[in-house]
Amino acid sequence: AFAYQLIQAVDRSFQIDSYDIEATCSIGIAIAPFDGVDYQTLRQKSHMALSRAQSEESNDYKFFEVEMEHYVNNRLKMVQALKQAIEQQEFELFYQPKVDLDSNAMVGSEALIRWRNANNELISPAEFIPVAEASGLISEIGKWALEQACHDCKKWQDEGVGNLTIAVNLSPVQFRRGNLPNIVFNALKQANLAPDFLELEITESLFIDDTERISDQLNQIATKGVSIAIDDFGTGYSNLNYLTKFNASTLKIDMSFVTNMLEVEQKQHIVNAVIKMSKEMGLENVAEGVEDIETANKLKQFKCRYGQGYYWSRPLPNDEFMALVKEHIRKLLSL
Ligand code: C2E
Ligand code: MG
Ligand code: MG
Repeated sequence: AFAYQLIQAVDRSFQIDSYDIEATCSIGIAIAPFDGVDYQTLRQKSHMALSRAQSEESNDYKFFEVEMEHYVNNRLKMVQALKQAIEQQEFELFYQPKVDLDSNAMVGSEALIRWRNANNELISPAEFIPVAEASGLISEIGKWALEQACHDCKKWQDEGVGNLTIAVNLSPVQFRRGNLPNIVFNALKQANLAPDFLELEITESLFIDDTERISDQLNQIATKGVSIAIDDFGTGYSNLNYLTKFNASTLKIDMSFVTNMLEVEQKQHIVNAVIKMSKEMGLENVAEGVEDIETANKLKQFKCRYGQGYYWSRPLPNDEFMALVKEHIRKLLSL
């Protein structure tokens, strides 16, 4: 009841000069003697509860629970392991083809990172990227991914498998230092890859941050000929203003709308509308998560330009991806 009263008291807006300031309040609670008997322990545990309260929603309180301590310890362990993974170069890029729905040709690919840990287990990005972002380690990992992807893309060209483009995912954290354009240009230069083969995927979550700083860096990058794609479109912030502001050239329709769209009519309407809108705005579109030929055909009917998904291939290690592309070209030529 006391926590609730505190939140009520703080949760209001203030006016300072001409600014409206919204105050919110999060509270973490640890109780003696159950959670500890000394100040240090109680403070530490109330902080863990506070972190949880802050991460879930504003204006909330949480009591400490043992599970929170396990969570924090596991995160700490993973940060240590990730630091080691950077030193030992334990990351790998897998590639998934992007297919032109009209010609059925593989025109590019997306680089998707994997972590092969010391026990030879392959860890998915969904598991370690959030930890890498929270700890800032993503800057280093992301830089490696960019360099490796540019290098591999150049190699495909040298092996004569057509002019495949490469898409690399970026984390909002990589924009913080302000040196992303240099990192991108250096990666291209090192690999001797022309900028128009590189596409950078950003998500809508980026636009909650310091937009000036971000649009400035994106513009520098786009001016050199690198394309910018909005990944997971439709799931986030969805303020259409940013499409013009951030120099985006492609919308990637999130797979939550695509994968089972044949069973859910509403999803077809959304996908169709996004395709139409992207065309009106002069943007390319890619449908993610295409798992069967029926969905691919429906998208073609909607005049979607590109598709990506398990129907064509799962993300593959570089050599398997190369073999897939070569086989695909051979099949197309023999038709
Ligand atoms: P994303 O960029 O939206 O990538 C698409 C995800 O969907 C990939 O998961 C891919 O394997 C999966 N997928 C592709 N086709 C299908 C399909 O037909 N059906 C289903 N069910 N899934 C499909 P993955 O590889 O686990 O990557 C997850 C996310 O991790 C990515 O989502 C991306 O946001 C992030 N990520 C991956 N690599 C990097 C990276 O190098 N840097 C950063 N910052 N994030 C990355
Ligand atoms: Mg992506
Ligand atoms: Mg996506």
